[in-house]
Amino acid sequence: MKAPPLDRLVPEYIKRFEAYIPSKPDDELKKLYGCTRLFRLNNNENPLGPPPEAQEVIRRFPPPKTSIYPSGDAYHLRMKLAEKFGLHPDQFLVGNGANEVITFVIKAFCQEGDNIVTADKTFAVYEWVAEFSGYEARLVPLVDFGFDDESMLRRIDGRTKILFVCNPNNPTGTYWNKQKLRNFLDAVDGRQIVVVDEAYLEFVEDEDFPDGISLIKEYPNLVVFRTFSKMYALAGLRIGYLAGDLEVVDIIRRTCVVYSVNGVAQEAALAALDDKEHILRTRDMVRRGKELVCRELQLLGLPFVSGEGNFVMIKLPMSDTLAYRALMKKGVMIRTMTGFRFPNYIRLTISLADAMEAFVEALAGIIKTVSSEK
Ligand SMILES: *Cc1c(COP(=O)(O)O)cnc(C)c1O
Repeated sequence: MKAPPLDRLVPEYIKRFEAYIPSKPDDELKKLYGCTRLFRLNNNENPLGPPPEAQEVIRRFPPPKTSIYPSGDAYHLRMKLAEKFGLHPDQFLVGNGANEVITFVIKAFCQEGDNIVTADKTFAVYEWVAEFSGYEARLVPLVDFGFDDESMLRRIDGRTKILFVCNPNNPTGTYWNKQKLRNFLDAVDGRQIVVVDEAYLEFVEDEDFPDGISLIKEYPNLVVFRTFSKMYALAGLRIGYLAGDLEVVDIIRRTCVVYSVNGVAQEAALAALDDKEHILRTRDMVRRGKELVCRELQLLGLPFVSGEGNFVMIKLPMSDTLAYRALMKKGVMIRTMTGFRFPNYIRLTISLADAMEAFVEALAGIIKTVSSEK
């Protein structure tokens, strides 16, 4: 059989798009880099695991139940969310991770010639989904490591459909406070959809941090993302959701792929939601980990950006990809930031003391090697 005529079949924007390459599984990586243990500090995962009740639900999930399709609209979870936030259950859409709800929103509002506006150095999936769907992603440079509200407003034109704000921002940890978010929403004045991605909301303690969901009644063009992957440690089960105005969500629902969220994830998320202890325990772990790492970084004389969230960004006196390989040989996996347009930076997930110590020790060794080669 002849090869398909890809040149004719494939849209130009797909030809241009480079696929994301995920990291290999642990066993493969250990073989590749010759290390016996591996600390994964690249994905902002929570090393404490899910809240105990969620763990119990997962343990008790009856295997025969996997033959049954899950609730197609995460019925019980949406009831619970509605009660928790004082909204209607139909104001929530649950997806296969917050990653999937990003695709829902872009599909619902964009068509050929449209654009979205976001930052140049933020969670890359907004940009990627827009581009591989054939829409322009307008990327506004950060100012002082934070989203630049005024420049974002200036990039809006007649074809702008969605503005994405990551609050707090991954990877810089900066955030807009209540007033700044309100001012932005007032300036947009309902003309575009404003998405506020609150993947790290549960880590933030500042009273002045805005809870986007509480603003939906006032701003019907606001859509808020949350995830169970970070604080609730259910990343492996893939579950996240969005909240918005009833009519807006009614539109977005049309683009959902039914049954994309599995039953174990739905039940575990439901059980995780009310555990305030877990949040306090995790925040405590993050506080200690950050203190340890930041103290050592200061001793090493390395600049870093430590804001909200369970991660810290560090500037290295060398290429981040070289550092990645050197750290891997010592069993520590971090995220290189060149892909986020921060060359020579790495992002470190804050974890337990043993992992933080392993990182600091490995990094100190690498820095010493670099400086002695100079
Ligand atoms: C991790 C992350 C997500 C995606 O989370 P999933 O629910 O695991 O898909 C979304 N936004 C930001 C900013 C994140 O860091």
